[in-house]
Amino acid sequence: MIDYITVIGGGLAGCEAAWQIAQRGIKVKLYEMKPEKYSPAHSSPDLAEIVCSNSFKSNSIENAAGLLKQELRLMESIIIEYADYNKVPAGQALAVDREKFSCGVTERISNNPLIQLIRQEVTKIPAEGIVVIATGPLTSESLSKNIQSMLGQDYLYFFDAAAPVVTSESLDMSIIFKADRYGKGDADYLNCPMEKDEYDKFYDSLITAEVTELHGSEDRKVFEGCMPVEVMAKRGKQTLVFGPLKPVGLINSHTGKQPFAVVQLRQDNTEGTLYNMVGFQTNLKWGEQKKIFSLIPGLQNAEFVRYGVMHRNTYINSPGLLSPVFNLKHEPRVFFAGQITGVEGYVESVSSGLIAGINAVKAFNGQEMSAFPRQTVAGALASYVSSDAISKFQPMNANFGIVPKPELKVGKDKRNSLIAEISIKYINKLKNEI
Ligand SMILES: Cc1cc2nc3c(=O)[nH]c(=O)nc-3n(C[C@H](O)[C@H](O)[C@H](O)COP(=O)(O)OP(=O)(O)OC[C@H]3O[C@@H](n4cnc5c(N)ncnc54)[C@H](O)[C@@H]3O)c2cc1C
Repeated sequence: MIDYITVIGGGLAGCEAAWQIAQRGIKVKLYEMKPEKYSPAHSSPDLAEIVCSNSFKSNSIENAAGLLKQELRLMESIIIEYADYNKVPAGQALAVDREKFSCGVTERISNNPLIQLIRQEVTKIPAEGIVVIATGPLTSESLSKNIQSMLGQDYLYFFDAAAPVVTSESLDMSIIFKADRYGKGDADYLNCPMEKDEYDKFYDSLITAEVTELHGSEDRKVFEGCMPVEVMAKRGKQTLVFGPLKPVGLINSHTGKQPFAVVQLRQDNTEGTLYNMVGFQTNLKWGEQKKIFSLIPGLQNAEFVRYGVMHRNTYINSPGLLSPVFNLKHEPRVFFAGQITGVEGYVESVSSGLIAGINAVKAFNGQEMSAFPRQTVAGALASYVSSDAISKFQPMNANFGIVPKPELKVGKDKRNSLIAEISIKYINKLKNEI
């Protein structure tokens, strides 16, 4: 008789799942392949590594990402607890000091007497016991193949991109101004203003720059929410000015005027020594990044501590395969959690880890599983990825479009707060039941 649950992958989803299982008094074997082996995007030996932007998105409950975080807080998510604890200034968003965050989670997980952390790559799904597979978008190749043979149908994949990080001391603050859009927040963002001639020069260089060739790139599919800046630029000269470089609501304190375009920088660590370039996920060659991003006013001497990169993103064809508690319909002892299920994003991955962890315990105890209500963002996401009705499956971020509209008719301006109110009622009820 196996007296533990196996969790494979110590990322955001795997740590959350392991924690929820241990909180319910069940032993966990948590396998993490680092530092023995690293994916192309991971570089720290710590668990719960944040591979790209340090933002967990909005903290407002009138925003789906913010509401999802609040639901997870109420469900006592360890990941959101540490994100809150290690937050850095970022206006209305919850952004974290990535090193302190991962280090804190690693310590807490390692010190839990019910969790045995095993630093080893898993190449085959264990043949017995309850298993949670949370190996992320960059699941190692041997395990990928094993999962593929088990599922008997093709994986899906697309490409994701990460933004560059610069040091604050290399920024020219005589050009850059601090401000949040429309003056909302504490002026946490650093803004690099561009006039039209500067934008034109930058744009021309960007669209003609050399990109890194990726294996399988002829089949490349890019997720709209994480599109490389050069791909977006090629859609039209004004696309960036209406997208990540939009200047509206940002007045340059040096000139008193709104610039033609603005590149925003967001604090990346608590000390404020590092900033990431918002929306600048890219696949440009590193030398090209230095050359072209240095054309941005204020970044002419920027020191890049990390360049943007682009990677494979693997996820299973969840609709039809998974139930709304993230286990396989045809093999209920096997759960999936995190980005590999087709939920997209840090908090979304945590949410699926939490639901999978809670229900893995139920499976272990022979109890009936508990799906989260669709009126919650967590439940709506779980329901979306497991819905038989989806024919062309694409990864999904938290959004209000997948949450059922409230029965009570209210104006558009009140709708999101009503959804939030309903969701929180459901979560509080659920919390007492499970
Ligand atoms: C390049 C890139 C940029 C991204 N940028 C963003 C972003 O800006 N914002 C955002 O919200 N999301 C972003 N994402 C998505 C992000 O990865 C996920 O949102 C989140 O990290 C997924 O959590 P996870 O727990 O599913 O996977 P991960 O956090 O990747 O964790 C998986 C863990 O499993 C381990 N592992 C893999 N295979 C094995 C094995 N066989 N045996 C043992 N351990 C294994 C890995 O080492 C890793 O630690 C990005 C993803 C990539 C790849």
